[in-house]
Amino acid sequence: MIYKANDPLLQSWINVPVGSDFPVQNIPFGIIAFGDSVVPATRVGDTVVDLSVLADFGFFDELGLDDLSLFYEPVLNSFAALGKQARVAVRERLSGLFSMSCGDLQHNAEARELALKPVSVIENRMPVAIGDYTDFYSSIEHATNVGMMFRDPANALFPNWRHLPVGYHGRSSSIVISGANIHRPKGQTRPDDSHPPQFGPSKQVDFELEVGFITSGSTRLGESIPVAEAEEHIFGLVLFNDLSARDLQRWEYVPLGPFLSKSFGSVISPWIVTLEALEPFRVDGPVQEPEVFPYLKTTGPRNFDIQLEVYIQPENSSPSAVCRSNFKYMYWNMAQQLAHQTINGCNINPGDLYASGTISGPTPDSYGSMLELAWKGTKPLSLAEGSLRSFIHDNDCMIIKGFADNGMVRIGFGDNLTTILPATP
Ligand code: MN
Repeated sequence: MIYKANDPLLQSWINVPVGSDFPVQNIPFGIIAFGDSVVPATRVGDTVVDLSVLADFGFFDELGLDDLSLFYEPVLNSFAALGKQARVAVRERLSGLFSMSCGDLQHNAEARELALKPVSVIENRMPVAIGDYTDFYSSIEHATNVGMMFRDPANALFPNWRHLPVGYHGRSSSIVISGANIHRPKGQTRPDDSHPPQFGPSKQVDFELEVGFITSGSTRLGESIPVAEAEEHIFGLVLFNDLSARDLQRWEYVPLGPFLSKSFGSVISPWIVTLEALEPFRVDGPVQEPEVFPYLKTTGPRNFDIQLEVYIQPENSSPSAVCRSNFKYMYWNMAQQLAHQTINGCNINPGDLYASGTISGPTPDSYGSMLELAWKGTKPLSLAEGSLRSFIHDNDCMIIKGFADNGMVRIGFGDNLTTILPATP
């Protein structure tokens, strides 16, 4: 589908710095807080636009929405629930209002004054109240690397891996927004199988470079989403740092999978970038062999060419790039993940989060976790300031960046950052 809002030639009367993640072609959705207000907003360049003010001034009156109260809510779940058609109408309307050729907002000094704010004076809040959270394991390079390290290099992938998108139900209560810092978790580990387990702060805190999608509508228990329709249920994407404690994970995960090693904090980027904005960046995924079951079979390009970067910034130091990967490497695409999630009749809700799993590429500098980059501690990375890292140290800040760029337009997510604080006493 062609969206007018995606026209690379569109220019806005709102200033967009060169190289910004948020040109007028992006129009992401988020929640901002300032004073006593917590309201839905979008962003152009370094300016945020308060959607409640635009609703006050009647700018959404002609879109045919039944109820405009969702533009005043402190989370976007109701907005997500509207579904694709209404979301597209809102995004197209915003694009029109921000375009150089439209005077409605540009020349309404009162509305402009109330609605526009520099991003520096607001705080982002969680864009949705996340009901359920699933973490997949859909990068073949990542699953192969982990299998080689911990099991059998000759049979790195489990027999099910190429037949279904492996995933587990995670915990949503500990998902926080970029800028929230996380204490190093404490727990049980067993570093040496010939000795008893130990208790204490994790020594192997790691990031996982992931992209998450947030669902829009809901389904009834018993209903399955056909794979061909699955993308219609996706609101948009965020960058996701699925923090992991590898030493806790190794001891606890048998037989039911990861538990406390994953639920001490996971971090999302603040702006939900719509699938519509990412439409120009579709690419084919890897060939799937053997052929997948019909309920997982997709046609056309279902992957997205989104460049991903991870930086580590030690306290009082500059950031070092440690990973450059791409969302296009995913073996299982989002439509397949959602079709698989619901094939048993499991119901979904607006604002659920589905994370990709660690996104590793084919080369050692594209691995999406310290576990792989430093190969289980055997090849520590040297940072710009000279220190070595096998895992994350206290007061290290992890920064994930993501953007799609085709030479005509750049659609980005803004930074996803979090600092690991020392374990609580
Ligand atoms: Mn993960």
